[in-house]
Amino acid sequence: MRILVSNDDGIFSPGLTALAEVASQFGDVVIFAPDYEQSAVGHAITIQRPLKYHRVKMMKGFEAYRVNGTPADCVAMGLYHLGGADLVLSGINLGSNLGSDVWHSGTVAAAKQGVILGVRAIAFSQVINGEEPNYEKQKPYIKEVIRLLTTGNQPRLVNVNLPKEPIGLRWTHQSVRHYNGKVVEGQDPNGRKHFWFSATPLTNPDENSDRWAIDNDLVSLTPLRLSLTDEDWLNRLNAVQQGSPI
Ligand code: MN
Repeated sequence: MRILVSNDDGIFSPGLTALAEVASQFGDVVIFAPDYEQSAVGHAITIQRPLKYHRVKMMKGFEAYRVNGTPADCVAMGLYHLGGADLVLSGINLGSNLGSDVWHSGTVAAAKQGVILGVRAIAFSQVINGEEPNYEKQKPYIKEVIRLLTTGNQPRLVNVNLPKEPIGLRWTHQSVRHYNGKVVEGQDPNGRKHFWFSATPLTNPDENSDRWAIDNDLVSLTPLRLSLTDEDWLNRLNAVQQGSPI
């Protein structure tokens, strides 16, 4: 199996190496990752300047390239360079990507870019609370997830979140109802106002959501799709249109 590994934290993130290590048990791994951190850039692509990629030496001897672009660019460059792949993996992100994080996550976008270009993909993110990340407890679960999602009929795009002390796997839905953004005001050294957009969960998560799974020490697997069309509304609007006298 040809596996392209990317992320949004940059080519030297420890999470990238950890994911490549697990992936190498399933096939040939090549890494294409941003040359600096691109967290929260979402599915941005670079169209105003040329893209370049360069081979870098990585620990563990992986074939790796740094790209002067976004996570989505990295996957496009990687698939171009390799002439395709059988699987795209993104992560392991330094921090979870739950609920509305999915909208701005570069980690999820890299996986999404793989699916847009016709390759099955999985995004991995891990809860961290400021301490140095350690992946030993997560690695067996990452291996199990890759095995599960590359065997038989499985969703082509899955957002995986790993708790600090995993005890099992759970299929979940995205907890979109729990808005988690607020603006925090501060002051720079010259006394000028500035602002931080801070993500904080405001309500308890509903059962079987991604956030709920993480709160219960379960590895959360959320199948995602590319279409954002609201099918319920579309059906209702079409029914009204067909029933109208016009
Ligand atoms: Mn990140």
